[in-house]
Amino acid sequence: MGKKEVKAKQGDGECIFCKIGRGEIPCRKVLENDNFIVFYDVNPRTKGHCLIVPKKHFKTILDMPSSLYGEFLETAKEAAFKLLKEHRAEGFNLVLNNFEVAGQVVGHVHMHLMPRYKDDGFKLCVG
Ligand code: AMP
Repeated sequence: MGKKEVKAKQGDGECIFCKIGRGEIPCRKVLENDNFIVFYDVNPRTKGHCLIVPKKHFKTILDMPSSLYGEFLETAKEAAFKLLKEHRAEGFNLVLNNFEVAGQVVGHVHMHLMPRYKDDGFKLCVG
């Protein structure tokens, strides 16, 4: 809202997250603003697992302009407040996989937001 629209370095007509961002394929939306969309992951690792995704195509966080970093985290924060309340979660993890070797499957930058619950059994590799 009121934020300047950021131009992507490159577009990708076939990218599934670009299509979701353009509203061409459906998603279960959590929230949306000028530059980002947040929607539930189709394969949730915890209840309420969602993805924070820029509407423009950037492969990894290294391709995304730094001017968007603040809004990326602000959007994650807004989604976290919403999900903590709606799912009565007690905490959450934010995860960003960059490049295939680090587990990135979809080549369009996205941050995983995973609400956490006592004894949810989810194991994150770090920690
Ligand atoms: P990553 O391994 O970090 O690239 O994660 C990609 C994530 O995108 C996975 O958790 C998938 O379950 C999720 N995903 C793939 N396609 C869709 C889709 N159409 N809608 C929602 N989530 C998706």
